[in-house]
Amino acid sequence: MSDCVFCKIAAGEIPSNKVYEDDRIIAFHDINPMTPVHVLFVPKEHICCANAINEDNCDIVGHIFSKIPAVAKELGLENGYRVVTNCGKEGCQSVMHLHFHLLGGKQLGVGMG
Ligand code: 5GP
Ligand code: ZN
Repeated sequence: MSDCVFCKIAAGEIPSNKVYEDDRIIAFHDINPMTPVHVLFVPKEHICCANAINEDNCDIVGHIFSKIPAVAKELGLENGYRVVTNCGKEGCQSVMHLHFHLLGGKQLGVGMG
């Protein structure tokens, strides 16, 4: 997607503060962190949102989750963290390219909505 900011970051066309990358995903610090540690895990393939995950592309979700523990450890999140994906308008998704927020570095609240 030529006008997608996360496709551009994945392609190296927009710089990011990267913490992990392989051939299928990239993880980088959020530009506007909500918590002391706030990293985004992004598939390089353009998938718009959680609503577009299906039998054919769902492997990428497991791949992302398989890489989260090592990144969390590297960033000092030994005491826990939260992983969130926002979907669509009522989910407050602002970038329409699937991503998972890794949030931590402080005691998070119990509220989810
Ligand atoms: P959403 O609201 O879609 O769940 O999350 C999108 C996230 O992407 C936001 O937390 C926002 O700060 C982050 N973001 C948007 N544009 C950029 C960018 O160009 N670089 C980085 N590193 N983060 C971005
Ligand atoms: Zn994209």
